Amino acid sequence: MHKLHHFMIFAVFIFLSYGSKVDAYRVVLDPGHGGRDLVPYTLYGDKFDRRLGTYLDHFREGARYKGVWEFEVMYDIAQKAKVLLDLTQTSEGKAKFRKILAKYGKAPQEVPAIEAFLSRPPGYFENYDAIKDDPNAPFRLYDYPDMKTGEIQPGTISRINALEPELVITLHLTHTESPKNGAMATVITPGYKTYRIAQNYVHANASERKKIRARFDRSAWRRWFVSDGRYKTFPSFMADAFIYYIGFWSLPDGLRTDYKRFRGYRHNLVSWPYADSDATVESLYGEEGERYATTLAAFSPKGPFWEREKGQAEDWRREGGPEGFGGDNHFAGMEILRYTRKAFVVNGVDTPSTAPKILHPYISTWAVPTYVNAVAAFLELAHTTSKRDYLRMAKYRHIYAEAVAVSTYSLLYGLDQRSAKNFPKGKALNLARYENLDGGNYFKRVHKN
Ligand SMILES: [Zn+2]
Repeated sequence: MHKLHHFMIFAVFIFLSYGSKVDAYRVVLDPGHGGRDLVPYTLYGDKFDRRLGTYLDHFREGARYKGVWEFEVMYDIAQKAKVLLDLTQTSEGKAKFRKILAKYGKAPQEVPAIEAFLSRPPGYFENYDAIKDDPNAPFRLYDYPDMKTGEIQPGTISRINALEPELVITLHLTHTESPKNGAMATVITPGYKTYRIAQNYVHANASERKKIRARFDRSAWRRWFVSDGRYKTFPSFMADAFIYYIGFWSLPDGLRTDYKRFRGYRHNLVSWPYADSDATVESLYGEEGERYATTLAAFSPKGPFWEREKGQAEDWRREGGPEGFGGDNHFAGMEILRYTRKAFVVNGVDTPSTAPKILHPYISTWAVPTYVNAVAAFLELAHTTSKRDYLRMAKYRHIYAEAVAVSTYSLLYGLDQRSAKNFPKGKALNLARYENLDGGNYFKRVHKN
């Protein structure tokens, strides 16, 4: 009897420690930006190319308008959401979190623990003395050399992957497009299937190209993000596909490489098992039929990163799915925005007709949703110069944070509710299919060995 009792305590202990340390789902809250766009960007920018020994891009410092700084507000919302999710770590906290869930749907008897992380520290001026030689060090997306030792340090994407989360929530403010409707939109990136269109396009003859373009213009991806005004929508897709495949922009014709605009082999600028060594890049650079060919026509998708891109899990993350396109990433982002609308309603700020509308997604070859092995929701929560959004950024950060925390729970476990148009579905992601994938749990294979 005594022995058995002992054994039971031991078994319960194992179960609990296993349950909270190993089995708890992990979410990384990723507030955008944090540093400054300093000159010269070759010394202070982002996208450090080890081969060339230079940064290839400016540091993206984000939006700011009349005292509202994107990097500060998004950090504040993420931090507040983490405080709410951290409630799930204690039993008193769980009771509080359960009450919050109950405002939105049928709360569970027992709230499971969720581990929440922030992808970065507050902002460059918080620890200014410690980081003044290189104020962007803690905020870069890609890996970068320590300014004194030259040793490569993990950027935000590598740090997210090292945590091996199931879910990543990236938070941004926008200042592009008209402020009239404000901004509440997902930011999504397609999978290999869609990028294939660009490969087919360069190999096609004139009449086939016309058909490919017409088909693209009818597809869900037709509102491709235009980042350079000299490129129309389809050429913008082609330029981004060139960057995705071969690291160079295309010229505005969407067919030829622009050798003056190299943006790096982004999958090699992070620490994970899918990167190629510099020696591999060197030996295959410019080779016809290889992955470091310098034209899209000569490109061939071989090697670990391209096997990942063509794989089943990336298709689930980025193609098809409950929203019709954009996969689980799109669904996760939309759920958070639908919960944001609901959050403003259940907290008495809005009615369903005044709650912010959800706009069309921003579609491009965005870095975070491409280079993490987690379901990645990427959001533009508000528009800096829209009066309505500006006020919300000042007064209602706690409401956005509550929406992020509740939707995290809902995406991981589901939250039953009566679903109405433009309000949350409450359906959990199918995480089991990633966990049970051939070759082992997809979420747990991103750490550099
Ligand atoms: Zn931003």
